[in-house]
Amino acid sequence: MRMPTSNLVTSEQPIPAPAARPGRLSRRDRPVTLYDLTLAELEERLAADGVPRYRARQLFHWAYRQLVDDYEAMTVLPKALRADLAVRLPLAPLTAVREVHTDDGETIKTLFRTLDGQHIETVLMFYPDRTTVCVSCQVGCAVGCRFCATGMLGLTRNLTAGEMVAQVVAAARRARAAGRTLTNIVLMGMGEPFQNYDATMRLVRILHEPAGMNFGARRITVSTSGLVPFIDRLASEPFQVKLAVSLHAPNDELRSSLVPLNRRYPVGELLAACRRYVERTGRRVTFEYVLIAGVNDSDATAEELARLLQGLLCHVNLIPLNPTPAAPFGRPRVERIDRFAAILRERGIAATVRYSRGVDIAAACGQLRAEHEAGMPA
Ligand code: SF4
Repeated sequence: MRMPTSNLVTSEQPIPAPAARPGRLSRRDRPVTLYDLTLAELEERLAADGVPRYRARQLFHWAYRQLVDDYEAMTVLPKALRADLAVRLPLAPLTAVREVHTDDGETIKTLFRTLDGQHIETVLMFYPDRTTVCVSCQVGCAVGCRFCATGMLGLTRNLTAGEMVAQVVAAARRARAAGRTLTNIVLMGMGEPFQNYDATMRLVRILHEPAGMNFGARRITVSTSGLVPFIDRLASEPFQVKLAVSLHAPNDELRSSLVPLNRRYPVGELLAACRRYVERTGRRVTFEYVLIAGVNDSDATAEELARLLQGLLCHVNLIPLNPTPAAPFGRPRVERIDRFAAILRERGIAATVRYSRGVDIAAACGQLRAEHEAGMPA
């Protein structure tokens, strides 16, 4: 689908910055925003100030259905309440500072600045049958995958639930401007969601609220690099969130060289946790497998992967690498990618090749932020 261009920046273009750059705020000083609160918490907060509880539902409606980005637009609320909320419960914890488009406008990547001056990325992708936002959950990442720009920058801090929800709301607003509806959320941007587990589950609760976005948990995918204890924890949650595991290799030697976390949770333990997850939930696991030329893309590796996943309710997403300048890895040739996928399918493993969106706009995880922090033109 080609997006209409009337509402959009048609090429890479900076978004005008606010007049004054906000100062750095410590965690203690970062304000709670509307997007941080569940409906029940908002009702309690308003009630404590003598505001009727039904106002909370109105706020959820205007924030998550009407998608307004300013209390002033919530004209159903008394003017004094709007002014009070703007001071005591800010609506927007993020400011868009740069937006780039590619794939004929079907991919929009936004660089946001947080209230404490950090930068994070969100990617909105339009497909013929769905509209997906890829949300960041941390500023940077501590996992340090060898092929990932975010991993190379290390972890600065976890994002709050409000900062994650704000990415979703901004994407829903952007999708609506393009005549589309946001249908899927993947926590696959910067960061490891299971290292920010509570905020991740809070995001699910807030977006699931029927008075607000009413976003089904089954349309939310949490992607982990393999934190085994949290796979078990997710399996016991009441929400039917989908699980994706970044596998990238079928054995410990290779996987540890790509995903250092594998030394702590080796492939055997990881796969055992995935089997427990499937048994407990009845839901399949998606395995993400970044194909890297000459590293993990051989016929023998495909055979080994097929043996590893035999009998498990799963799907493999093969993602040809988006090369990043900082890592010495390349993307396999198309014939190699097709051959790898064919071997999996011949052995009964469901596999899809997914070319990651936006190769020409630094869409590989964390690249846009890395460029920005390095002072490249925004
Ligand atoms: S691929 Fe994901 S888990 Fe690995 S370093 Fe990058 S952001 Fe972290």
